[in-house]
Amino acid sequence: MRCLAARVNYKTLIVICTLFTLVTVLLWNRCSNQGGPLRFLPRGILPVAPPSPPREGQGDASVSSQQQHPPQPPEPPPVAGGAKYEEVDCLINDDVTIKGRREGSEIYLPFSWMEKYFEVYGKVIQYDGYDRFEFQHSYSKVYAQREPYHPHGVFMSFEGYNVEVRDRVKCISGVEGVPLSTQWGPQGYFYAIQIAQYGLSHYSKNLTERPPHVELYDTAEERDASPPLWDVPKGCSLSRVRDKNRSTWVRQFSAPESSDGVSLPLGNSKDFILSLDLRFTSNGSVSVVLETTEKGAPFVLHYVTSSTLIAFRDRDITYGIGARATWSTLTRDLLTDLRKGIGLSNTKAVKATKIMPRRVVRVVLRGRGSVDNVTISTTAHMAAFFAASDWLVRNQDERGGWPIMVTRKLGEGFRPLEPGWYSAMAQGQAMSTLVRAYLLTRDQVYLQAALKATGPYTQPSAQHGVKAVFMNRYDWYEEYPTTPASFVLNGFIYSLLGLYDLSETAGGSGGELAAGGREAARLLARGMESLKAMLPLFDTGSGSVYDLRHFVLGAAPNLARWDYHTTHINQLQLLASIDGAPVFREVVKRWKGYLKGLRAKHN
Ligand code: CA
Repeated sequence: MRCLAARVNYKTLIVICTLFTLVTVLLWNRCSNQGGPLRFLPRGILPVAPPSPPREGQGDASVSSQQQHPPQPPEPPPVAGGAKYEEVDCLINDDVTIKGRREGSEIYLPFSWMEKYFEVYGKVIQYDGYDRFEFQHSYSKVYAQREPYHPHGVFMSFEGYNVEVRDRVKCISGVEGVPLSTQWGPQGYFYAIQIAQYGLSHYSKNLTERPPHVELYDTAEERDASPPLWDVPKGCSLSRVRDKNRSTWVRQFSAPESSDGVSLPLGNSKDFILSLDLRFTSNGSVSVVLETTEKGAPFVLHYVTSSTLIAFRDRDITYGIGARATWSTLTRDLLTDLRKGIGLSNTKAVKATKIMPRRVVRVVLRGRGSVDNVTISTTAHMAAFFAASDWLVRNQDERGGWPIMVTRKLGEGFRPLEPGWYSAMAQGQAMSTLVRAYLLTRDQVYLQAALKATGPYTQPSAQHGVKAVFMNRYDWYEEYPTTPASFVLNGFIYSLLGLYDLSETAGGSGGELAAGGREAARLLARGMESLKAMLPLFDTGSGSVYDLRHFVLGAAPNLARWDYHTTHINQLQLLASIDGAPVFREVVKRWKGYLKGLRAKHN
């Protein structure tokens, strides 16, 4: 704490001194807008709220002394006073002149100018009955590391991720049950990183959220055999039959494509996860009628036995779910399916409308097949988690990798990655997903896939692996295995977390598994040694860099924007919870300071 004041440099002082300016300008504008005479602003100090407490709730040494005034009961600012603010020309860097304000010896610069010049953030917010100007040096928040990280726990702060709502997710595939990315290719492709993140976020939400409300509408068992809730129009049939293989009663249905279909009212539910067990013996469909915030006819989601990815026409949204000739569980997030369907619209007006579902009206079956366990629930995180885990098992190649089938250009100076490249981040996050699936089920399939995923770590990038070596000494697992090497920090740390999860899980058992676990532990140890040695290279003294292109290419540093900087901090906090090396604690502390404008000392 000793040198805090000294570390608040001149720029920061200007920023803080001008916190009041927006208020000034606003009041000024109000006067001019009213066309009235210029009124004088109140004398004295307009209260500026201290920044909201950091999420982690710990007082790190990053709050400047100016901001540490004691808490006071809210008190509205004086509304009348005598101080006169005069316009004054401010010459900036000998370049441009802008209009500022002067009050005695104090100078105020417009916040609209400050904001751009310093890339800082502020807005007027009203609470407790009056306006405050709230200033933030950065826009991103750090999460708390609640407890030591472990391979069957929450994955970093992923309980806060909502992968499927991202714009770069085209939709959740009906056939694969996982998101389809459009991040680097508008055609859409399955991206192992996104799929693992989809799995890990739902896994983490399952641990942190309340259990869902689950409403079972039909199990076809004796106890609910009587209520004939199903609507069976003429020409259609529905019967209750015993499914011997699954040792349960199911509903067998038959409804021509052209008919109204066999349908079940769903109690106008306000929960939007539909789940049902399903088997088709012909082409057919499951349709869900949704009342939405939009006036007029309801929207209908159609899940059809085809390979169509997604289609939208009028108020009908269609997802292909494959043939479904054997029993499987169809679980769909109706809200996401509705929103992604509307998102396909070419009409900006429709796209922009925030149409939301209000009620699930009914489910309608067409074609021939059987159905069981028709359910509506608030969430179904584990279904999403296992959809991701199973996709990873099905799509791992013989080398243990998940090839990424789009071209990736990291930037000038790096050779583009051609489709088929591996990413250490994909490998690592897939391992973290698969290890969790194994720990839940004890199914060796998941563990074997996780063990196999270390394959690309051992091969150099040039030989279709992900390994780079820094200065002929430090092994680095590349998020983007570029030539020359790029040394992306966040992807590297995710690759290490996967190795950690795996070595913790597969290290102790016998035989082949122990050997695989030892290999993961060896790769982890090499990687951690590199990270501890190289972490200082990512520190700019006021933030962090995303990669090492300034060294590798001699280019300008690729500064990490604030959300990447906080990702770095979140990752290092996690590592600090499993590795006592001082470098993690120290870097976390310093990098958190950067979020509040602290800078490393100059000479
Ligand atoms: Ca049943």
